[in-house]
Amino acid sequence: MYAKIESERLLYIRLNQTKLRSEQYIHLRDAVINDGNTTNVGRLTILPSSYAGSPRHMHEYAQDAIAYVRLYGRPDLFITFTCNQSWDEILQLLLQGQSAVHRHDITARVFRQKLKSLINYIVKLEVFGSVRCWMYSVEWQKRGLPHAHKLIWLHKKITSNEIDDVISTEIPDKNVDKGLHDIIVKNMIHGPCGALNENSPCMAKGRCTKQYSRLIVSNTITGNDGYPQYRRRSTEDGGKTAIIKKRNGTTIEVDNQWVVPYSPLLSKTFNAHINVEYCNSVKAIKYICKYVNKGSDMAVFRLQPEIKDFDEIVQYQAGRYISTNEAVWQILSFPIHERSPAVVHLAVHLQNGQRVYFTETNVQQRVLNPLDTTLTAFFSLCKNDSFAKKTAVY
Ligand SMILES: [Zn+2]
Repeated sequence: MYAKIESERLLYIRLNQTKLRSEQYIHLRDAVINDGNTTNVGRLTILPSSYAGSPRHMHEYAQDAIAYVRLYGRPDLFITFTCNQSWDEILQLLLQGQSAVHRHDITARVFRQKLKSLINYIVKLEVFGSVRCWMYSVEWQKRGLPHAHKLIWLHKKITSNEIDDVISTEIPDKNVDKGLHDIIVKNMIHGPCGALNENSPCMAKGRCTKQYSRLIVSNTITGNDGYPQYRRRSTEDGGKTAIIKKRNGTTIEVDNQWVVPYSPLLSKTFNAHINVEYCNSVKAIKYICKYVNKGSDMAVFRLQPEIKDFDEIVQYQAGRYISTNEAVWQILSFPIHERSPAVVHLAVHLQNGQRVYFTETNVQQRVLNPLDTTLTAFFSLCKNDSFAKKTAVY
C-alpha cells in the first residue's frame, strides 16, 4: 500500500514538472537570447528537495548538519538507538500466537514513542547537560527494525576525562546492578566473531568489519582520529565476564573486549541496543553527518541503448526498497528526520546564477524581472537599510 502511495506522489511530481521546472537563471537567459527557443531549457525531470528522503533532500540535510558544526564545533555524542522487539509495550499488545514481526504497526508506533521519549530525556531533562542542538534520522535495515542515528551538541563540551562518566565499554557487575548487567549482556555484546565464530555476519575476508574484539586498555585514550579507545579493563584489573548463548545453542564466556560502547543511564532507562560514542576529532564529523543522512542502500544496474534526458524520479525509484516497517512508518506520517534549532537556507549563487521557476507563459517576464532570492534581498537590504548597513556581517 505504501508503494502505491509513493508512486502516486512521484507521479504528481512527474506530471507537474512544468510548474516545478527550474533552471539556473543565467542558462535560461542564454537560451532566450540565443534562439528564443525555451522548450529545451530545463529538460530534465527533477525530484525536488521538498520530497522527504530524496537525494536532494538528504544532501540539504547534510549541509544543514555542517551549519551546526560551523557554529558550534564538533558534536559531543553520536547515539544509535535500535528498536527492541521485546519491549513490554510491544509484547503486551500482541495477540495470541503473534510475535513482533507480525505487527509492524505496533513496533513502529512504540519505537516512535520511545524515540520521542529518548529525545525528551536528553534535551528536556538534560541528563548529559544542557543541549545546544540535536538532530536525528531514522532508517531501516533491509528486513529489519527501525533505528535512529542521533547527534547531540552540548553547551558544555564533554572533556576527555569525563568520558568514563558518560560512556562505558565494560560488563557491569552483577552484584552491584543486576538489571543493568542483564540489559548490557543481552543487547550490547558484539558477536562474538573472529576465531570464536567465523560465520558471524560482521566477518569479511576473515576479519571483523567492526574491528572486534577490541584491545583491553586500563584507561580511556583519546587523541587518535575517530573514536577514542574506551577503558576496557582485564579480568585481573577487576573487569567482569559474562556467559552468553550463541545461535547454535552453545554458551561462551566473553569479557570487556566484546562490549559495544553504551551509556549506563540510557541503557537502563530504555532497555534497548543504544550505542553511544564520543566524537573527538573533526574528521569524525564529516563521516557522521554523512552517516546520519546517507539514505537507503541500493544497488542497481541496467542496459540502455542511449543516455536519455536525466530523470531523477526514475533514479530514485530504481532500487528503492521499502520494508514493512518503513511502510507502516510512512503511512502513519511519522517523521524520518527532526532537529533543533531550525536551519534556514539562504540562496548562494553568482550574479544572475540563481534558480528561477518558470512556465512557458511567464518565461519572458521572468527573464526581464527575476524574483528576488534570499541572497539578492539580503544584499539590497544591506545597501538600503541604515541599520543593516551597520550590522551586516559576512
Ligand atoms: Zn564482529
